[in-house]
Amino acid sequence: PTLVNQIAAGEVVERPASAVKELVENSLDAGATRIEVVLVEGGQALISVTDDGSGMGPDELALAVERHATSKLPDDDLVHVRHLGFRGEALPSIGSVARLTLTSRARGAAEGWSLSVEGGAKGRPVPAAISAGTRVEVRDLFYATPARLKFLKAARTELSHAIDTLERLAMAHPAVGFFLSDGSRALVKLAAEKAGDLAQARLNRLAAIIGRDFHDNAVPIDIERDGVRLTGWAGLPTYSRGSSGHQYLFVNGRPVRDRLVVGAVRGAYQDVMSHDRHPVVALFLELSPDAVDVNVHPAKAEVRFREAGAVRGLIVSGLRHALAGAGH
Ligand code: ADP
Ligand code: MG
Repeated sequence: PTLVNQIAAGEVVERPASAVKELVENSLDAGATRIEVVLVEGGQALISVTDDGSGMGPDELALAVERHATSKLPDDDLVHVRHLGFRGEALPSIGSVARLTLTSRARGAAEGWSLSVEGGAKGRPVPAAISAGTRVEVRDLFYATPARLKFLKAARTELSHAIDTLERLAMAHPAVGFFLSDGSRALVKLAAEKAGDLAQARLNRLAAIIGRDFHDNAVPIDIERDGVRLTGWAGLPTYSRGSSGHQYLFVNGRPVRDRLVVGAVRGAYQDVMSHDRHPVVALFLELSPDAVDVNVHPAKAEVRFREAGAVRGLIVSGLRHALAGAGH
């Protein structure tokens, strides 16, 4: 099974940022309200994710690192998934290419437990001290697969990818607190947004990440067509934040990347913003789960829309309408 898991790891865990995504999604699935990430040497030396979620007992810990042992079975088919994870692949994959330790205490349980996996070899659960919730530690990522280790970039680069991944997840979950440090410095500090109104909580969270001035430089979008709803904010054409990295897209609550949407945003702004500048936008699309495939690839956050042209059209109109309403 170690080899099978290492092959799966190649798909699921490409770099520290993808491990961070998998572990933080597990914390979110476990109902965490506070998630703390530590990355040492860009995550290659250590990735640690601690949450205050449901936690696991000793038997669940042992199961969690088994291949295809997911506790999150979909209701009917893979398209209708309630949770972020469902393949039961992330932990065994990580355990096959790194030194993995899970420490957890189930809610209401008197005692915590810890279990380690090294290069695919699974240990036994042993009692451990921890408050309720789970800590997953990944040490020496890719030590067991030197060929993959070579593909890691400088620690600074890996760190910035991991921060970007965490910030995108944080935008999708404003009621959860997210924290990240490199072991000495706090690099992400996002306290849970208390606003009861989802739109307000989202805007506050976006501003906490993009910049406080986003509040005064963005106009709301809210448009619906043929069962597809688009909400979010369009940055004013006069507002930009340097490089092109400030376009955020969420489909049914998940951060995704999509070329079609990048093109639609460019199209919507082309007449109102000079070409050397990049608009700041955050778009939240809600549509029927069978109108979109968000699991094209286990790790890459790509999507495939069934009605791609209609989605593109909705985004262009939504952005143009919002900007025109603001006099642009
Ligand atoms: P998946 O998320 O697809 O189920 P994973 O390999 O990521 O697969 O996780 C395996 C199982 O381990 C999960 O289904 C869950 O039961 C358990 N688990 C993992 N991380 C956590 C966590 N932070 N809190 C509680 N349970 C967890
Ligand atoms: Mg998972």
